[in-house]
Amino acid sequence: MANATYDVVVIGSGPGGYVCAIRAAQLGLSVACIEKEAAYGGTCLNVGCIPSKALLESSHLFHLSKKGFAKHGIKVKPELDLPTMLKRKDKIVMQLTRGVAGLFKKNGVVGYTGLGRFSAPGKVEVVADDGSTQTLNAGAVVIATGSSVASLPGIEIDGERIIGSTEALSLDNVPKHLAVIGAGVIGLEMGSVWARLGAKVTVLEYMPAVLAGADADVSKQVERSFRKTGLKFKLGVRVQGAERTDDGVRITYQEGDTEQTLDADVCLMSVGRKPHTDGLNAGDVGVKLDDRGRVIIDDHWRTSANGIYAIGDVVKGPMLAHKAEEEGIAVAELLAGKAGHVNYEVIPSVVYTDPEIAWVGKTEEQLKEAGREYKVGRFPFMANGRAKAMEGTDGFVKMLADLHTDRLLGVHIVGPMAGELIGEMALAMEFGASAEDVARTCHAHPSLTEVVREAALDVAGRVIHI
Ligand code: FAD
Ligand code: NAD
Repeated sequence: MANATYDVVVIGSGPGGYVCAIRAAQLGLSVACIEKEAAYGGTCLNVGCIPSKALLESSHLFHLSKKGFAKHGIKVKPELDLPTMLKRKDKIVMQLTRGVAGLFKKNGVVGYTGLGRFSAPGKVEVVADDGSTQTLNAGAVVIATGSSVASLPGIEIDGERIIGSTEALSLDNVPKHLAVIGAGVIGLEMGSVWARLGAKVTVLEYMPAVLAGADADVSKQVERSFRKTGLKFKLGVRVQGAERTDDGVRITYQEGDTEQTLDADVCLMSVGRKPHTDGLNAGDVGVKLDDRGRVIIDDHWRTSANGIYAIGDVVKGPMLAHKAEEEGIAVAELLAGKAGHVNYEVIPSVVYTDPEIAWVGKTEEQLKEAGREYKVGRFPFMANGRAKAMEGTDGFVKMLADLHTDRLLGVHIVGPMAGELIGEMALAMEFGASAEDVARTCHAHPSLTEVVREAALDVAGRVIHI
């Protein structure tokens, strides 16, 4: 059989890869997308963003029914039906991954199931599960192979007692005591899920603060909120080991000069993710990796090998689905002769906990470090009518603007629907808006968006409602 030939072969069908494939096909290029797993959609759809958000939503409702409904004058006796909760999550995943297959069909992207690997410049082999191979000729190749769970030296994830995020999405019982290593995004999101469902959760974190990369005001506020809702934190401790015991797991950690242990039923390793290039034979065709295993790219996502591009979690930058998507679209447009571009200054981040956390642009610490002169505006959800109606008064909006031009430099939100509110701020920053522009925009009443507007007013010292 003659080798199939495509303008573009994308390896990996996560949000980077599948979006790149669809956009390239829309622009008239012939496109194949290779995926080694049975379902399209990558980490995000199968074992990441989507199933975690499904469980966060369900567990939030369970928690509200136990602790929040009474305030509204609603009396219920909730009971957890974990199998149904997990099935609902699986159904959403299935619908969305099948949706990607449907989008491929609609746009004329040819999907291949199997491991994609380079066999020669311009040639990619697809190795199926049964070992059979077929070779694709490619005008250009886009590596979108994503990332996988990282662990600590000497700690092996066994999938039962010592687990990664994938297993944490499918535990068939609520552990009595869940130890979470790392107070980053996964630790806080998955720790929240199991705490709401009834587990005692202890989070051990190396840094002195939770969500160490966030604006310090955000990190302080959410630590207080999480402690109130029952998460326990051991901050500034370095986890060194985790070993199975007869009925659980024993974690060893360094606290100051002393070595301590913590016993738990299950231990979730959430200490980051590593770029995934296993089995790709990337080095054989001249694709270079950096010292952290990421594919090295230039400003146009070109690797060190001619005609090979890379996007998403496998390259530098935040490991976020929407960042991967933006890069996928940009590369497709470049390959079609257009001007693909990503504005890395305006990539929002959202942590889907309660309170929800979102930000875009610079933190106050980053501005200080860069020596940039800035003004700050703040407004609490406590003083907002809609937030009160929702019982969502925990948190604030903090806005940072240039001292001289008033241009928005960063916005940080802790509070209800923060992940939705940040959209307006990303748009404002993309358009180069000033705090004054936001302050002069009419925001609906009563709405949470008024908190954003009041923070903008506060930048100029003319806040109304406090
Ligand atoms: P991936 O989604 O990892 O996809 C890569 C694909 O390539 C995979 O399907 C893999 O099987 C395939 N592949 C790898 N090698 C080969 C090969 N040689 N041949 C064929 N196929 C191959 N981000 C957010 O923005 N928001 C969130 O809420 C969020 N929540 C998350 C929750 C969890 C629990 C986790 C783990 C991650 C979360 N993320 C979230 C991060 C997000 O999932 C990733 O940033 C995103 O999936 C990266 O997209 P990608 O296309 O680069 O790679
Ligand atoms: P992370 O980098 O967010 O957090 C890892 C944490 O582990 C850090 O705070 C680090 O200090 C800590 N740590 C490392 N070694 C330690 C040790 N020996 N002892 C104690 N603590 C230690 O990583 P993650 O939470 O695993 O998430 C991985 C990626 O997935 C992130 O880059 C994130 O962008 C992405 N993600 C995003 C979302 C979202 O956007 N809502 C959700 C989940 C995951």
